Amino acid sequence: MTLSTVATALITIVELPYAYDALEPYISAETLHFHHDKHYATYVAKLNELIEDTHYATMPLEEIVRTSDGAIFNNAAQAWNHVFYFEQFAPRAQHHPAGVLKRAIEEEFGTFEALKERMTTQATTLFGSGWTWLAADRDGRLYIISKPNAGTPLTDDLTPLLAIDVWEHAYYIDYRNMRRNSIDEMWKVIDWRTIDERYNAIAAV
Ligand code: MN
Repeated sequence: MTLSTVATALITIVELPYAYDALEPYISAETLHFHHDKHYATYVAKLNELIEDTHYATMPLEEIVRTSDGAIFNNAAQAWNHVFYFEQFAPRAQHHPAGVLKRAIEEEFGTFEALKERMTTQATTLFGSGWTWLAADRDGRLYIISKPNAGTPLTDDLTPLLAIDVWEHAYYIDYRNMRRNSIDEMWKVIDWRTIDERYNAIAAV
């Protein structure tokens, strides 16, 4: 007789914090169904397969990202990155940063428009699949960083603030090969209330 074990979900799927059609026309319901329910969910499922019966099985997701490599890192980072990405959008977004983040952006990049243009250009020109990030160090200094594949500022000991997903699955349904257009439209649903909160949570600022 063998004992049957029930597979438990170690890392759980985080649902979207808005309706699938809430970001239309900028990001369609069809894109979000594929992006969240297929791509992101598959990273979580694959990660759970890989970490079962390993020391990663009891770790929070962020700690797995910081301490793993290879396939476990790729699936863990993609799981983490996507939750972070989906949570930065809102249907009635605040279109500008405020307070300390606004001042930090002006100090580092000159103007808010200059920051958006630099991020858009970096994301557009990142070869292949990956992510372009706005991140901050412990002193609150801002950085724009592009990373291939599942790359994330978490492994550079930086605090991520905003993520642009430039994998084709993020935009191909709505924008086909027009990556730059997809990013120009994405800004319209980035909720800077959320980005402000992420920045305000850094102890030094
Ligand atoms: Mn994606």
